[in-house]
Amino acid sequence: MCGIAGYVGSRDAAPLIVDCLKRLEYRGYDSCGIAVVDSHGMFVRKSVGSLDAFREAIEAASPAGSVGIGHTRWATHGKVDQRNAHPHLSCDGSIAIVHNGVINNADRLRVQLTREGHTFASDTDSEVIAHLLEQGVKDGASFERAFLALPEQLLGTYAVLAMSRDSEVVLAMRKGSPLVVGIGDGEYFPASDIPSFLPNTSRVVYLGENEGFVLSRNGMERLDLEGDRVVHRADLPASQFVNLSPESISKGGFEHFMIKEILDQASGLERLIQGAPDLIGDVVPVLRDARDIIFVGAGTSYHACLFGEYLFASVVRRHVDAIVSSDFEHHAELLDSHSVVVALSQSGETLDTLEAVRMAQDRGARTIAVTNGELSSMARLAQHVIPLFAGPELAVAATKSYTAQLAILALFGEGLANQRPSAVGRPLWQAHDALFNLTSEAARHHTREVARELLGAPAVFLTGRGRHYVTALEAALKLKEVAGLRAEALHGGEMKHGTLALIEDGTPAIHFFDEQESPRTEVAASELKSRGARIISVGPRPLASSDQHIRVDDAGIATPIVQVIPMQILAYELAKLKSMDPDRPRNLAKSVTVP
Ligand code: GLU
Repeated sequence: MCGIAGYVGSRDAAPLIVDCLKRLEYRGYDSCGIAVVDSHGMFVRKSVGSLDAFREAIEAASPAGSVGIGHTRWATHGKVDQRNAHPHLSCDGSIAIVHNGVINNADRLRVQLTREGHTFASDTDSEVIAHLLEQGVKDGASFERAFLALPEQLLGTYAVLAMSRDSEVVLAMRKGSPLVVGIGDGEYFPASDIPSFLPNTSRVVYLGENEGFVLSRNGMERLDLEGDRVVHRADLPASQFVNLSPESISKGGFEHFMIKEILDQASGLERLIQGAPDLIGDVVPVLRDARDIIFVGAGTSYHACLFGEYLFASVVRRHVDAIVSSDFEHHAELLDSHSVVVALSQSGETLDTLEAVRMAQDRGARTIAVTNGELSSMARLAQHVIPLFAGPELAVAATKSYTAQLAILALFGEGLANQRPSAVGRPLWQAHDALFNLTSEAARHHTREVARELLGAPAVFLTGRGRHYVTALEAALKLKEVAGLRAEALHGGEMKHGTLALIEDGTPAIHFFDEQESPRTEVAASELKSRGARIISVGPRPLASSDQHIRVDDAGIATPIVQVIPMQILAYELAKLKSMDPDRPRNLAKSVTVP
C-alpha cells in the first residue's frame, strides 16, 4: 500500500514522477504529492483526489528540477486530507520525505521531537522521519549520516525516499516495505514497484533491508559507515532485466483494468497449463514428504487456500490447514523441519503473509511461495517459488491471480495424487475452453441482466457446500469490494442453523453447485424460496426454484475456476451500473504492505 516513486536524471522530474505514480495508483489513491529540487530550492505540491487532476496542476505550475520524490497514499495514520498527504517536510522545509509502511514508535518519537522543539504539521506516523533527519543534521551529522541513523531510530516497516534542498540527490532505504530502483541511461527511478517506471527502463535493482542508497546524476551508490564517516560504495545488489512489456501494464483499450484482467484469464491459464507442471514437479516431493502442510494467505489468496484444503482432502486424501496470514503466529509453534508452508500472495509483498513465511523459516519449515511477484520479497525469501503465469494484475480486486492460484493448487493436488500427466491437464483445459464462453459478449450481457436485478437490493446471500462454499466466499468478497454490496457467504449446510432468519421477501440468494451437489442444492434453494428468497443459480442446469440462472458446466477439479468467472463479471457490471469505479474500490488498495 502507498506508492512511492522518485526520479534522478536530467529530464523534468515533476511530470515524470506523476506518470510513475499513476502506474502505482493501485497501491493507494487517497491523496498524492511530489517534491522536486533544483539549484534554486524545493517545490512541494500535494492534493487530495485523483492523480489526473493533480497532473494538470503540476503541468500548470511546471516546476523546474530534475530530481524529485512522489507519493500516492493509502492512509494508516491520520485522515485523508491535504495535511496528511506526503511528502512530509522538516520544520524549516529543507528536507522532504515520502514513506510507505507504519512506524510503530511514531508516538514516542513525536513526543521526543516535540520536546526538542519540532512542530508537526500532520497526524501521520511518517512525518517523524523528516524531523529525525532534521534533528540529526542539527546535531552536526551530514544529511546522509542522519539518514543512516534511521534504522536505529525507527521501529516498524518503511520504504523511504528523502531529499534535501541543499543537494540534488535522493536517498533510499527500506525495511519490510518494498523498494526497487529502475536504472535507465544516466537516470534512476526509485519506486515501490516495477510498473511505475517500466516505460522508461526494465533494468531493476532490489534494495536489501536497512541499506542506505544515494541516487545522483553521477550514479547510484550504497552508503556505508567507516566509524562515523559515511563512505560511498559502488557494490550494488545485482541488477536484473524484467520481462514485462509496457502493454501488459496498460489498459490496452479496455475501460478498466478489472475487465481486461477478467478477460485475460483464458490466455493466462493456457500459459500456466503449459509452463507450471515442470516447476511443480520439483515441489511435489517436498509436499509428499511433509508431515504437515499449511496453506497461508490473506483475502482472496486465503480463499484459494481454503480451496486447497478441500482439494487435498478429497483428491489427495491429505489433511492440510488453511490459515489466514494474520493468524499464522498462533500456529507457528506447531511447525518444525517436517512442516511445509505454502504461502499464496498475488504481489508477494503482503506483509502478514511475508511474516508467516519468515516465522515458518525460523521454525525450520520448508516454504513454497505461490505468487505473481516472481521477483518479490516473498519469492526471494521462500525456498521454492511457483509463479502464477498471470501477468501484472493492476485492478485492486484480484481476479486472474485467484483462478491461477486455484489452477496451481489443482496441479499440486493431482501431482500428489499420482495422477497420470494427462489427468492433470484435462480439467484445466476444460476450464480454459469454458472461459471463452463465460466471458463472451452474450454471457456478459446475461450477467449484466442479473446485475440489474441486484440493483437496489440491500444485501445478497451466496451459498454453496464444500468447494462451492469457497466460491461463495470469493464471490461475496468481489461483490463487497467492487460493487459495495453487502454480500454474505453462507455455508449451504448451515442454513437451518440460524442463517435462514436473515431471509426476507425478495432477498437475492445465489447458489453455487455442480451435478453432484445439485440434489441437495435443489432442496436448500426450495427452502429459501418458500421463505421469499429470489433464487439465482450458478451451475450446470437451472434449479426448479431458479428465478435466474447462470450456466456453468462442471469442469471436474477445475469447476471452482470457472464458477467464479460470472461472479467477477457480476461484481464488475454492478459497480458500473452503480457508477462506481471498479478499479478503485473505496478505502482499499492493492499489495497490502502495512499491518
Ligand atoms: N503510514 C503512512 C501514512 O499513513 C503510510 C501508509 C502506507 O504506506 O500505506 O501516511
